[in-house]
Amino acid sequence: MPSEKLQLIPLGGLGEFGMNCLALRWQDDIIVIDAGLMFPEDELLGVDIVVPDITYLIENRSMVRAILLTHGHEDHIGGLPWVLSELNVPVYATEFTLAYVENKLDEHGLLDDSILEELTPGRRVTIGPFSIMPIRVTHSLVDCVALAIHTPVGVVLHTGDFKVDLTPVNGEGFDLQAFAELGKQGVLLLLQDSTNVDRPGYTPSERAVRPRLDEIFSRTKKRLFFSCFSSSIHRIGIAMDLAFAHGRKIALLGRSVTESSEIAQDLGYLNVPDGLIVSPAQARDLPREKVCIIISGTQGEPMSALSRAAVENHKHARIEPGDTVLLSSRVIPGNEKGIFRMIDHLYRRQANVIFDDGASGLIHVSGHASQEELRLIINLVRPKFFMPIHGDYRHLRRHIDLAEQTGIPQKTLLMEDGDIIELDRDSIQKNGKVNAGRVCIDSGSTGDVVEDIVIRDRRHLSEDGIVLPIITINKLSGRVERQPEIVTRGFVAGDGETDVIDQARKIIARTLDESSAEEKADYGLIKEKIRTDLKRYIQKNTSRRPLIMPVILEI
Ligand SMILES: [Zn+2]
Ligand SMILES: [Zn+2]
Repeated sequence: MPSEKLQLIPLGGLGEFGMNCLALRWQDDIIVIDAGLMFPEDELLGVDIVVPDITYLIENRSMVRAILLTHGHEDHIGGLPWVLSELNVPVYATEFTLAYVENKLDEHGLLDDSILEELTPGRRVTIGPFSIMPIRVTHSLVDCVALAIHTPVGVVLHTGDFKVDLTPVNGEGFDLQAFAELGKQGVLLLLQDSTNVDRPGYTPSERAVRPRLDEIFSRTKKRLFFSCFSSSIHRIGIAMDLAFAHGRKIALLGRSVTESSEIAQDLGYLNVPDGLIVSPAQARDLPREKVCIIISGTQGEPMSALSRAAVENHKHARIEPGDTVLLSSRVIPGNEKGIFRMIDHLYRRQANVIFDDGASGLIHVSGHASQEELRLIINLVRPKFFMPIHGDYRHLRRHIDLAEQTGIPQKTLLMEDGDIIELDRDSIQKNGKVNAGRVCIDSGSTGDVVEDIVIRDRRHLSEDGIVLPIITINKLSGRVERQPEIVTRGFVAGDGETDVIDQARKIIARTLDESSAEEKADYGLIKEKIRTDLKRYIQKNTSRRPLIMPVILEI
């Protein structure tokens, strides 16, 4: 007899931030909510992205009906190319999210074969035994939804990422009514975003940064470089408004920020006055006080537009003494080194740098709900069962405590990646585990699994091997001391192997030659440059994709 229980199987996002992915199963039907990626931590140098291990879905591929996306952030959609290349199922998402997804699938050559279905808040879709109602929520991105999933045993409400923004920038508010209505009808299980469970009070509205940003626009005498996450559409909108009000033209620099703004303009999420946006080349010729450059790279990513501008290596962005650089973002833990290195470079250019140092006023707000908002939603929804999602173990643990303090859920449960949770109308419990873990992918392209940290599949590594370029830099002079060396393990380039290595050595030498002393002193940046150049060369000439890990020896 088939099981009369609903199963929830989280494959990512519980026990780490990022790569959110959750499977729901009723008998022989599975739907998947979100397919995110995670950016690698320091110890995974040489790897581009990390995605969830989806062995469970692959083993049950005939049951997987659809992937539903809550919104367009990378930790929710970034794993899609990888998942879809293994498992081609329809993807459901709102209009804006789909636009991001289309871009991404196009880059990976997967768009033509993908089935994309639009979700509209307030309009139900039925997929097998599931009937899903998307509900409008507010977040740092636009067009985000929670999903109320009607199942044979009751309603599972998945909040997605959210905060309760009562004064949304684009007028699309959080649908508190729908949450309250569901609460009246009865919700079996609430799955709620844990990201900000440590923060007391309420998260400020996206609008709250405007006064302080206005002040910065007023005080800035020369060029203003405005950097924020490329998906922060509300923030970009505010910057554009302020630029217009202060008589500055806008130029967009960096691929992610340009693409993102174009999508937002096309879909009506950014209302840009005619003539406000100029090309980067035009911006260069305008008086410095008439320009605001929206530039990507708030996290000090070595190849981003801002990092390159910071070392005078961007043809359209020259940062000159007296210019202001505003990082309207937070310092994501783990990125401090890169960010502060970039800020040092910016100060060397004699720019004013304004970043989230605790003393710069409200230049950034979080997109995630704080404690009072989490309590509010639990009170509105009055779920029978409660499980936290999205967070490290300690966030999940604290979120359970917070939920229990409301006195509302009959039972709370802490689930982690790979757990099988079973529930029916009266009970919820863990019952077993599936394979779950992280898969590292090189170059973001679909077939390039480099190494699975969960020990399985080391095939790629053993097939394509490792290339270690070793560069010796004199710490005092900053000079490259001798010819770069290359050590390889398991890398076979075929007949002309010695040629390939010789040529690779020359490529490294050229990359070093073309880099300024300042770039060479920035090991993060120079390693990334070498890795990128070498990767391009090796892939083109050997059609192999070894793991490339530059090593810098200081003498
Ligand atoms: Zn998000
Ligand atoms: Zn998220």
